[in-house]
Amino acid sequence: MADLRELYQQVILDHNRRPRNFRALDRPDHQAEGHNPLCGDRISLGLRIVDGVVAEIGIQGAGCAISTASGSLLTEAVLGKSLLEVQALIAAFRAMLTGAGPPDQPDLGKLLALQGVRDYPVRVKCATLAWHTLAAAVGGSREPVTTE
Ligand code: ZN
Repeated sequence: MADLRELYQQVILDHNRRPRNFRALDRPDHQAEGHNPLCGDRISLGLRIVDGVVAEIGIQGAGCAISTASGSLLTEAVLGKSLLEVQALIAAFRAMLTGAGPPDQPDLGKLLALQGVRDYPVRVKCATLAWHTLAAAVGGSREPVTTE
């Protein structure tokens, strides 16, 4: 499976180098801040919902390659999804990294590139930061998110 690993590596490198939807939204419907003190990753995430689906998403911040790539992949994965689908995706992504998931998960697509992070417990928090922050944003929490 060396080819697949290499492909995943390239997806992560590419999304770190050119993060997608890396911007602040003008008037987000949902917004949350996230911080991973263990690594120093900080993000701000905003969403705009139109007709019940994610019409716009923007992430800004500074962090390591894993947190940046994960946030970038997240924005692509949730665009056009309903909030219910977003919740399912958050659960599936977390399950993939903690190995505690049900076997019948929604298709994670490109997000599978981050699967290997599971073997590095310290980096799991980098990979899940954006997802915790997304959960807080759609859950309406005003508290800043921390992975600690
Ligand atoms: Zn990090």
